[in-house]
Amino acid sequence: MELKLPKKALVTGGAGFLGSHLCRRLLADGYEVTAVDSLFTGAKKNIADLLGNVRFSFVQHDITLPYRGQFDEIYNLACPASPVHYQRNPVETMKTSVLGMMNMLELAMNTKAKLLHASTSEIYGDPLVHPQTESYWGNVNTVGMRSCYDEGKRCAETLCADYRREYGVDVRMVRIFNTYGPNMHPQDGRVISNFIMQALRDEDITLYGDGLQTRSFQYCDDLIEAMRRFMELPRETVDEFCAKSSLGAPVVNTGNPGEYTIRELAEEVLCQLPDSKSKLAFAPLPSDDPKRRRPDITLAKELLGWEPKVALREGLARTIEYFRSAGKI
Ligand code: NAD
Ligand code: UDP
Repeated sequence: MELKLPKKALVTGGAGFLGSHLCRRLLADGYEVTAVDSLFTGAKKNIADLLGNVRFSFVQHDITLPYRGQFDEIYNLACPASPVHYQRNPVETMKTSVLGMMNMLELAMNTKAKLLHASTSEIYGDPLVHPQTESYWGNVNTVGMRSCYDEGKRCAETLCADYRREYGVDVRMVRIFNTYGPNMHPQDGRVISNFIMQALRDEDITLYGDGLQTRSFQYCDDLIEAMRRFMELPRETVDEFCAKSSLGAPVVNTGNPGEYTIRELAEEVLCQLPDSKSKLAFAPLPSDDPKRRRPDITLAKELLGWEPKVALREGLARTIEYFRSAGKI
């Protein structure tokens, strides 16, 4: 009888918020998983429960340097995602997005691995088209505070498209819209973790600007499901999709189309924590903060047979429970 070995997956950014969920899911799906992470914003405690699993290993490594190994699938998630953190060292953010992406594409090319890249709704910048479809090219400042991330991620997409066209690398890209859930760092700086932590600590809820800018919030499990479905597609299906799509590239939006103002989000958090003494407080709007954001997920529905299942109210309740029970207060 032939021995069936588990498939091998590499997850860059595996100790981060989303990476840790993906590692857990891949292990549940029977994979042998290597998580690579520089621990810039991630933490070993996010994967502490996985370290005893014989099919899991963790390597502290910066992906701006080449990485070697033989994998069936590479999931490229390494990159700080919160504006506070990616702006802390903008040149490093750009290097991670561009050099890190090239290193992972070289690895995929040399070992014939499939590669799924975590792109972002930020490639649309402050969008002039609403909701955002994949065929929209975006409205991005090249020299602003967010540019290191936005342009880095745009360049990463270009690299994926060119390695596919020129060298035949089997890439897939997901443009992720604001995603939240357990394992976010309490000091992550993004809006959902900020508001929950502030409400739990009875501190002011910091609304930047007038709080009327909108976002669409996706629960982490929904995103991981979309990533796994995309990676599972046969190459021929992805090639057919590219041949038909106006972009000619394997890109889909993943997000929850429910759109909320930031003020509505703050009110929902307070509604779920009725004992909180927090009050709404206004703070300056960071530069280039996008005014509206909502994904058009038609392509993901068609290609992956996927749509998000977890509504904001339910996802927030689970996330609040995580921050409370993990003793983050
Ligand atoms: P995160 O900050 O929790 O995770 C990023 C991980 O990458 C961290 O563990 C960090 O230490 C690691 N990392 C950073 N630079 C590295 C480097 N040079 N080498 C190796 N590891 C490095 O953020 P997240 O929310 O889990 O985001 C994961 C990925 O998803 C990122 O690529 C991000 O751009 C993308 N994304 C996330 C969202 C979201 O809303 N969460 C939205 C769009 C895109
Ligand atoms: N935001 C806010 N208060 C906070 C953190 C963020 O009002 O404490 C706003 C921010 O200005 C933006 C939105 O919430 O309009 C989402 O911010 P986040 O940093 O989570 O993600 P991104 O701006 O990258 O979508």
